[in-house]
Amino acid sequence: MIKLKDISKWYSNGSAKAHILRHIDLEIKEGEFASIMGPSGSGKSTLLHIMGMIDDPSEGEYSFEGESVFTLKEKQRSELYKKHIGFVFQAYHLIDELTVYENIETPLLYHKISSSERKAMVADILDRFQIVGKKDLFPEQLSGGQQQLVGIARAVITKPKLILADEPTGNLNSKQGEEIMDLFTRLNKEDGVTIVQVTHSEKNASYGSRIINLLDGKIA
Ligand code: ADP
Ligand code: ADP
Repeated sequence: MIKLKDISKWYSNGSAKAHILRHIDLEIKEGEFASIMGPSGSGKSTLLHIMGMIDDPSEGEYSFEGESVFTLKEKQRSELYKKHIGFVFQAYHLIDELTVYENIETPLLYHKISSSERKAMVADILDRFQIVGKKDLFPEQLSGGQQQLVGIARAVITKPKLILADEPTGNLNSKQGEEIMDLFTRLNKEDGVTIVQVTHSEKNASYGSRIINLLDGKIA
């Protein structure tokens, strides 16, 4: 699904270069549940953002399902992203002014989907995630665990092939964290969604099938 070839990323710091990622070669196969681990500042988020097409490397090649991502025009790349990728953030990134229902519906507005179909899709996911009773609440009225459920519901409403999650349980207590990891496991096993998460937790990583260790911008 994902092939990264010789990916490097640096920031210019005067005449010096601050290297964040160095010569990363990495493949993620369809159906994998992989965890990126490593110390703070090792480049985990940067790598995830590059996979998610929301950051560009300084150098290297990226092919997503055979499409060469960096040769695509902005619009095609954004279509590829919207069609196939769901991103889950540590701090949820919900829209405060929208209800749970409206937050989850948002990504569907970028697709050609009729309003009756949108209603059915949101209803289905509210039901699956057992948050029907929260649909008219605003994010600030929910616990952290519930907000993350909404964040994940929003990420999967378009049935993406790939979920990228950046410390998805970083702001949650351990019970809420387990619920999120169980949900990822079901999405991976039952729906065949490929998952790549960044995590500091060995326990969270144990839900997946593979650990990618980053150290100083290199795969260790
Ligand atoms: P991790 O997720 O492993 O903590 P990040 O990918 O977030 O690591 O960041 C790696 C390094 O890149 C950090 O040292 C961070 O300070 C640096 N960095 C991130 N963004 C920028 C930027 N815009 N300019 C300069 N340095 C940056
Ligand atoms: P959890 O056990 O998942 O951490 P909380 O104890 O934070 O949940 O919240 C319990 C219930 O209280 C939830 O159903 C949530 O919707 C509700 N709730 C939490 N914070 C607020 C709030 N600020 N206003 C209204 N309801 C809230």
